[in-house]
Amino acid sequence: MKAQFAADLITKYNVNGARYTSYPTANVFHATDASQYVDQLQQVAPNKPLSLYVHVPFCATICYYCACNKINTGNRKHAEAYLDRLIEEMRLQATHLHGDHKVEQLHFGGGTPTFLDEAQFERVFAALNQHFQLIDADFRDYSIEIDPRALEPSRIEHLANLGFNRMSVGVQDFDPAVQVAVNRIQSEAETEAVVNAARANGFQSINVDLIYGLPLQSAAGFKRTIERVLKLDPDRISMYNYAHLPERFKTQRQIRSEDIPDANTKLKLMGSAIEMFNQAGYELVGMDHFAKNTDGLLQARANGTLHRNFQGYTTHGNCELIAMGVSAISKVGRAYAQNAKTLDEYYAAIDAGALATDRGYNLTDDDIVVADVIQQLMCTYELDVATFDRTHGIEFWRYFEHVWPTLTNMAAEGLLQFDEQHIHITPKGRFLIRNICMVFDAHVTPQTRGFSKTL
Ligand code: SF4
Repeated sequence: MKAQFAADLITKYNVNGARYTSYPTANVFHATDASQYVDQLQQVAPNKPLSLYVHVPFCATICYYCACNKINTGNRKHAEAYLDRLIEEMRLQATHLHGDHKVEQLHFGGGTPTFLDEAQFERVFAALNQHFQLIDADFRDYSIEIDPRALEPSRIEHLANLGFNRMSVGVQDFDPAVQVAVNRIQSEAETEAVVNAARANGFQSINVDLIYGLPLQSAAGFKRTIERVLKLDPDRISMYNYAHLPERFKTQRQIRSEDIPDANTKLKLMGSAIEMFNQAGYELVGMDHFAKNTDGLLQARANGTLHRNFQGYTTHGNCELIAMGVSAISKVGRAYAQNAKTLDEYYAAIDAGALATDRGYNLTDDDIVVADVIQQLMCTYELDVATFDRTHGIEFWRYFEHVWPTLTNMAAEGLLQFDEQHIHITPKGRFLIRNICMVFDAHVTPQTRGFSKTL
C-alpha cells in the first residue's frame, strides 16, 4: 500500500521533531570521553561486519541553506593536515578490534568528499585497506556524496576503481533563481554528466537529493525540477524540508526570510513532488526517502531487514558503525560516540594519541526497547506485539500504557490502527511517521525535539 499525502493531517502535525537517524537523538548526547566507546569496541563479536563512515568537512563554496558541519576553503592543502589525523584515527580505532570484521558498508560524507583529489583518495583508501577489511563483493554498499560542481566526470572512474558502487548526488533545485538565492549554481548538464558517468562505470545505485522550502521556490519551478530529476532516472530520491534557523546557523542569515515559501506553498511543493514520484513508480521508503519499486530498500522493508541510521536507510543494519573525522558519530554496541566538532579540538586529541570523542551516550535497557519500537515503525510501518514481547521480555502494552491515549487519538484521525496484537501505520500516517515515533520517545522535551518540521 502506497503512502497517501493527507494535507490536513500534515498541516495539523507540523511541529518540530526528530528525524530519528538515531535513538536517542544526538541532541541528547552529553559530554564524555572515549572510555565507554572503547569498551564497546573491544567487545565487538569476532565476525561482526562493519559500517565505516568517513567525514570530509571541506567545501569550496558554501550553500546558504546548509546546516552541516563544514569548513569553507578553496585551499586543497588543508586536506593534507586533515588526512594525517584521519588516518591516525583509523589506526587508533582499529587497534581496539579483534577478529574478522568485513566492511559491508562504507560511506563518505561531508562537507564535500570530492574536495579530496585522486592522490588524497588513494592515501585514504590505502589506510582503510591497511586497518580494515574492505571487500569487493557485489552486496557491499560503498557510497559517496557527490557535488557535481566539484567533480569532473572523468574522476568517476577513479571512484569506481576505489570500490564505490553507490552515490548520492546533491541537486536541491534546478531553478536558476533559487540557485542564486542559496549560492549553489549547478547546471543540469553537469549533474547529468556525473549521473551518466556513474552509470557507465557500473555504479549500482544513484540517489538524488532535493530540498523543498528553499527561498524563491514556487510550485511551477519545483515541478520543473522534479521533471528534470525524473529524466535522470535515479534509483532513489531523498527530499528534505528546509528548516530556516538563521539564529542558529550563521550561513542561513544570507537568505532573506521574506523569500522563504509559506507553509501553504511548502505543502503544495511537497504534495506535487510526491504525486510525481508516485506516477513515476517511486515509493516512500520510510521518512524523506523514495525508491523505485524494484529497489533493494523496498525489498528489505518487505522482509524486515531495512534499518535506519545516520546515513538514512540501509540494508546493512547488522553492522557496527565506526565513524571517523571531525564531528563524526559512531554507534558500537550500546555506545554512541561523537568526535569533537572543531578541527582544532579534533587535531589536538588525535595528536595526543587519543580518540577524539567529546560527546556520547550509553544506551540503557529502556532505550533499547524504545529504539527498537522506533526502528520498526520507521522501517516497516508495522509492529507485532507478541514478537516484540518475546524479543525484549516485556509486556508491551503494560510497558507503554502511557502512550495508549495518544495512539487512540491518532487512530481516530486515521494515522494508524492498533490493538493488543499489533500496530499498523496507515498510508495516511506514513508521512507523519516521526510524529508517531515521538509518542514513544522517552527523551523528548522542548529542548531535545530537534528543529525539523514537515512544512
Ligand atoms: S550543502 Fe554540501 S556543498 Fe553545500 S555547503 Fe553544505 S556540505 Fe558544503
